[in-house]
Amino acid sequence: MPSEAEKLAINRTTNLFVVTGPSGVGKGTMIAKILERVPHIAKSVSATTRQMREGERQNVDYFFCSSEEFFKMKLRGEFLEWAKFTEHYYGTPRSWVEKSLSEGQDVILEIEVEGAKQIRQKYPQAVLIFISPPSYDELKSRLQSRATESPERILTRLEKAKEELNSKNLFDYEVINDNLDEAIGNLEHIVYAERLRITR
Ligand code: 5GP
Repeated sequence: MPSEAEKLAINRTTNLFVVTGPSGVGKGTMIAKILERVPHIAKSVSATTRQMREGERQNVDYFFCSSEEFFKMKLRGEFLEWAKFTEHYYGTPRSWVEKSLSEGQDVILEIEVEGAKQIRQKYPQAVLIFISPPSYDELKSRLQSRATESPERILTRLEKAKEELNSKNLFDYEVINDNLDEAIGNLEHIVYAERLRITR
């Protein structure tokens, strides 16, 4: 028998939040705080063909897999959306997301713009949030100081960022990550406001 809290969670309408923004803008840090602060919300773990970075963990940060495994999953229809970002593939596992939503849990996807467009098509009621840097130069210096990528890869990501910044009109909300605490607060407000929405 579900407890009262579980029943409440199951009966409420769930939300699919999609958080996008250029690489290095701070999406991961912001989402980690939302998961700490807000109940009944979980982040989906994507599959990727890129190499694990120092400090990342298998099945926690990503399901790191080979291109062959990725394409088998894709053929089996296991991705809700997928995209190639720079030279690697990334995809959202469909079954986990659908199960979480049906069990009363809100879900956050942290994905790039092409994937967000696919989600918009499949789930028109999804809430799309774009995280912007205060400026392009600030993004550049954040990516350089993060130093998780080689200088050439940073350049590729910056080129990609230009394209992504041009797509922000597809989104429902924009949060500018200038002051991190304020940006996290704004993201939290969006989550709570969407939970109070009557119509979509
Ligand atoms: P990174 O290599 O920095 O972890 O991720 C590169 C980009 O891919 C980021 O913008 C990240 O949000 C995005 N990404 C991560 N997982 C997925 C996914 O499952 N689907 C899509 N479309 N993008 C993803």
